[in-house]
Amino acid sequence: MKSEYCGYCFFNNVAVAAQHALDNKGVNRILIVDWDVHHGQATQQMFYDGPRVLYFSVHRYEHGAFWPNLRESDFHYIGSGAGKGFNVNVPLNQTKMGNADYLAIWHQLLLPLAYEFRPDLVLVSSGFDSALGDEKGEMEITPACYSHLTSSLMGLAQGKLAVVLEGGYCLKSLAEGAAVTLRTLLGDPCPSISKIDEPSLSIQESILSAIYVLRPFRKCLQFQGRFDVSKVGSKKEGTYFVPTVTFEGSDIKPTTFATRNCYPVQNRETIDQLDQRLDQLIKETSLAVPKHRLCFVYDERMASHRNVNEP
Ligand SMILES: [Zn+2]
Repeated sequence: MKSEYCGYCFFNNVAVAAQHALDNKGVNRILIVDWDVHHGQATQQMFYDGPRVLYFSVHRYEHGAFWPNLRESDFHYIGSGAGKGFNVNVPLNQTKMGNADYLAIWHQLLLPLAYEFRPDLVLVSSGFDSALGDEKGEMEITPACYSHLTSSLMGLAQGKLAVVLEGGYCLKSLAEGAAVTLRTLLGDPCPSISKIDEPSLSIQESILSAIYVLRPFRKCLQFQGRFDVSKVGSKKEGTYFVPTVTFEGSDIKPTTFATRNCYPVQNRETIDQLDQRLDQLIKETSLAVPKHRLCFVYDERMASHRNVNEP
């Protein structure tokens, strides 16, 4: 929105930066990856009609029951006019989404789209409110996973990647997540993350829904054909996946948005448990960097190898 603020956001730094880069810096294509747990509805609005910004947002949605309760945050809002297929929403319709869910979103959807789009610049709306322990997001990405989310974007745009801090309300996971992200930007190896489970059925449905609506506009999503979803939930037509839209928000737009006292409060026991899990994760995270990052091994006898058929 150009003339009003919303949530905690007075100035939409990433959207302003993107517009500035397009207008003044000779940049033609920008990928904005928004992993803040809230939808970036203003970023979506700003670039909705054009093909120069691919906006990719993963956000808590719960079929519209979560703030900002907008229909337009759902998967079937994919842009309009020349911008069709350049707006990607991956709604999180459950809480407790974790590393497996986010890595599935990256590998099944974001990276194929990003490579097809070939951005000149990548901007990340980097809220850490999807991290484990955050009372607003109630998601469970471990801090170390942000390193992997960042690392896979560094191969794009000749490494021109800006990670811009947005939300994050659990200071411990915010600090750790931001620290590993910075280390990754400096070129350090990603820390290992613990065993990845199968992505949740809910995220499988969100990813398949997004692929379904984007496929007509994106070659990278066409080769998969149609999906046999006998194992993916109950929304079936024959054996093929057909998405459905469920909206549990309200169409009455509020005149003001509450910015405090509008989230569930964690009780002491939950806070302590999350704090212990975070301490354990931080302790387990190895930030070791090999002493020699690259070795060239040469055996002089290799020089004796030759093609016996050559004169
Ligand atoms: Zn947020």
